Amino acid sequence: MQTEGQILDLEAKDSVIKQLIFDRTPFYAEAGGQVADGGKVENLSRAGLGRIVGVKTTSRGVFVHQVQVVEGAFAVEDKCKLGVDAVRRRRIARNHTATHLIHAALRVVLGKHVMQAGSRVSDKELRFDFSHFEGLNAEEIAKIEDLANEIVLADVLVKTQEMPLVRAKEMGALAHFDEEYKGKDLVRVVSVGDSSQELCGGTHISRSGEIGLIKITSEESISSGVRRIHAVTGDNTLGWLREADKVVLQLRSELGDDPLEGLRKLRR
Ligand SMILES: [Zn+2]
Repeated sequence: MQTEGQILDLEAKDSVIKQLIFDRTPFYAEAGGQVADGGKVENLSRAGLGRIVGVKTTSRGVFVHQVQVVEGAFAVEDKCKLGVDAVRRRRIARNHTATHLIHAALRVVLGKHVMQAGSRVSDKELRFDFSHFEGLNAEEIAKIEDLANEIVLADVLVKTQEMPLVRAKEMGALAHFDEEYKGKDLVRVVSVGDSSQELCGGTHISRSGEIGLIKITSEESISSGVRRIHAVTGDNTLGWLREADKVVLQLRSELGDDPLEGLRKLRR
């Protein structure tokens, strides 16, 4: 997660952000709905410290690092120490694997018509868009959470295999955008135990137990026939529960030990 790299090219995006290209990099770039790694760049050739705020790839596969310069300076040919924020990367990986589990659970609870329509995986939460024609009720959401968390608690192995597309299809691996894989000899299949197989290029944890608790935080419509789920995992779930608890405590202080009963009284 730490590498030394030399600056091959540097361009100022604005007064704060510089775009840097190194001869090598330990950072994952933004791809397939997954945000890029974060981390630090320390200049070894002169005083200079920067924060990685984004990593993108060009159509030729060159990694362009967006660096917020915290102090000092950077110049072409400078040697730098590149360090990935490992805690952040693990949060992203937890959310990504959880996305696959929610996808699998949605297909069990709602039906096989559920297809991924998009996703956004960050270190804070995951967002999953899918085809379905009506809103989910509380019972369905609870079932999806139960199924996904069952696989988490079973602590199964998360495996990544490269294989020909035909074999992946035979296995029943889910592919979101068929087009992306056309013309490729080998595709990457990510399996979570035998509960989920998906074609995916993203980063994942190595056992499902590392995800911690998966909690769906909202469900909404984004366009005709497409729903969106937001969910949290791991320490972000703990943060979410603490916030929810604050609301309950506040309600208790206003409405009594049983805030629901207090509300009923108020309405009468
Ligand atoms: Zn994926």
